[in-house]
Amino acid sequence: MRQQIAAANWKMNLTLQQGEQLLNEIIAKPHSLSAHQSAVFAVPFPYLPMAQAKLAGKTNVFVAAQNCSNKKSGAYTGEVSVEILQSVGIQYVVLGHSERREYFLESNQFLAEKLDICLASGMKPIFCCGEPLEIREAGTQNEFVAKQLAESLYHLSAEQLQQVVIAYEPIWAIGTGKTASSAQAQEIHAFIRAALAAKYGAAVADTISILYGGSVKAANAVELFSQPDVDGGLVGGASLIADEFVAIINALK
Ligand code: PEP
Repeated sequence: MRQQIAAANWKMNLTLQQGEQLLNEIIAKPHSLSAHQSAVFAVPFPYLPMAQAKLAGKTNVFVAAQNCSNKKSGAYTGEVSVEILQSVGIQYVVLGHSERREYFLESNQFLAEKLDICLASGMKPIFCCGEPLEIREAGTQNEFVAKQLAESLYHLSAEQLQQVVIAYEPIWAIGTGKTASSAQAQEIHAFIRAALAAKYGAAVADTISILYGGSVKAANAVELFSQPDVDGGLVGGASLIADEFVAIINALK
């Protein structure tokens, strides 16, 4: 079975103390992860060592950065490289979140550079894609997402692609309380998998975890995750509430 993943995206929320408290609460609540299931916590950069220490020794639990530089090292004040992240033990990084695309003008080509640096160093990217509302209303979401995949991913080898987790996040559903229906999520996840199969072959496409993101919460996670091509979720708001995120972990198939 493909890896099923519940990924928390704390964004720019919580103080260090609040983050520690949240992880303490999550750890204390009953949850179990089988071999094909993982939980990932994408926390602000300064909290990475704290989260690593709190979650050390927990099987299938990983800490992620929310971004990394497209440069290897050097005079890029304020940037954080893959090498720096790996030096504090980080194995996952979220790339191309719609907030980075919108507020920091990250393009598909720029993200391709970040993917290359990650994959050359053994860092696992969680690559976000997804359409804005006007594209969904025009019914051209498949074409929009296909272009994001083609421009950021399709130069990768099959072996490299298999290191990438994809998160489909319709922008109109992020932080809005509006969730894609499970049928809408399944439809576009199946489209993404078919597009990957057309480029890399079905055997490769079948191994790629495709997460859904956009107002996932305890109340809708079971139904969303039960869809055959939905392999878990990337979760913003609900990941800041221990009961909610533990229920989301427990909703993984
Ligand atoms: C996200 O941050 O990727 C996200 C999907 O946020 P939310 O769950 O709050 O919609």
